[in-house]
Amino acid sequence: MNDLSPPTGGGCRNTPILKERGQREVFCGLTGIIWLHRKMQDAFFLVVGSRTCAHLLQSAAGVMIFAEPRFGTAILEETDLAGMVDAHAELDREVARLLERRPDIRQLFLVGSCPSEVIKLDLATAAERLTKVYAPNVRVLNFSGSGIETTFTQGEDACLASMVPVLPESNERQLLVAGALPDVVEDQMMGLFEQLGIGPVKLLPARNIDNNTTVGPNTVYALTQPFLGDTAAALDRRGARQIAAPFPFGEEGTTAWLAAIAEEFGVDRDLFDQVTAAPRARARKAIAQAAENLNGKSVFFMPDSQLEVPLARFLTRECDMTAVEVGSPYIHDTIHGPDLELIPAGPTISEGQDVDKQLDRVRNARPDLTVCGLGLANPLEAEGLSTKWAIELVFTPVHFYEQAGDLAGLFSRPLRRKSKLSLEAA
Ligand code: SF4
Repeated sequence: MNDLSPPTGGGCRNTPILKERGQREVFCGLTGIIWLHRKMQDAFFLVVGSRTCAHLLQSAAGVMIFAEPRFGTAILEETDLAGMVDAHAELDREVARLLERRPDIRQLFLVGSCPSEVIKLDLATAAERLTKVYAPNVRVLNFSGSGIETTFTQGEDACLASMVPVLPESNERQLLVAGALPDVVEDQMMGLFEQLGIGPVKLLPARNIDNNTTVGPNTVYALTQPFLGDTAAALDRRGARQIAAPFPFGEEGTTAWLAAIAEEFGVDRDLFDQVTAAPRARARKAIAQAAENLNGKSVFFMPDSQLEVPLARFLTRECDMTAVEVGSPYIHDTIHGPDLELIPAGPTISEGQDVDKQLDRVRNARPDLTVCGLGLANPLEAEGLSTKWAIELVFTPVHFYEQAGDLAGLFSRPLRRKSKLSLEAA
């Protein structure tokens, strides 16, 4: 079913990985709440944290709130630390007030953060205690969005992983798709599955708790995001089996992802070609238009979003770019292997970060485009390098065929802007 041919000269799956541990420049996992609260319409994310956490959420997400928000912060002051019993009692009071005011909440996530006082609070026990009080109307779970040793996409991973142990058991042969997608993109994906005759399809996260997401030994699952390592491990523990595939970015990645699932469900090759032919052609055309100024250019990925490996595959194979370095916070062969296999050999593959050493490599290579976090983009721009903020890739719909042109466009825009500025300056 999958007609992707590996690159000549071998891919990067067996390339030795440069592992670095040092100072890192990343956002914390609370960031995930910004897209998760929009996706899960009956959920509320109560961050147990400091004023810094509250500021991060307000400034990053506050502007997007049109109605009652689905997140908030219970701020722990130093005085709350006088006794942990008081802190638990205060949390219980906050939750009671919230649930009384908001009967629409069916799933409440207590989200831990990194101030040391919060780390000392046992939120798992608090979630269990509160679940007993509010079941069956409200399910209370907990996860950590702490910025210590995490990247910003790990918040979603931790959130989804916290949901897996409480999913109802099912022995049904079914597909579970894990990873939060914008509704419009999710609808496109479900439309493709329907046309291919693949089902039943369950979603994690679902738009609300009644959507009947189940899991069991006859569940096979596919990830839509490459940062869901803990979620995958939790699904494995429930007996589900992962379908290994490149991620659905670009025409080629989407086709390979769908083909791996179609093969698992015994979909006829002719039907697969018939269903995918038109969207594939549209995607190829859109990429060709958007990627015109990417052809032949070099790209350097600094580790940030954990999307780096599949995006390097997309840019090298579908936009004709050359990767200098593909850095990712974590690289797991079971998750990233299929994409690494398709990246033409040549780039350094690095895991983790020692930011000064990596910046030296960027300055030496002077790539046409550097994909990095917000904190590094401005200094690099000041040195005359074009950059792309990795965080935008998570906030913009980029999966599947219909978004493939937009995905290429996200990378070509900074280069177009730069050549425009150079022309004007000339
Ligand atoms: Fe800052 Fe930690 Fe709160 Fe994130 S969780 S905003 S890193 S204090």
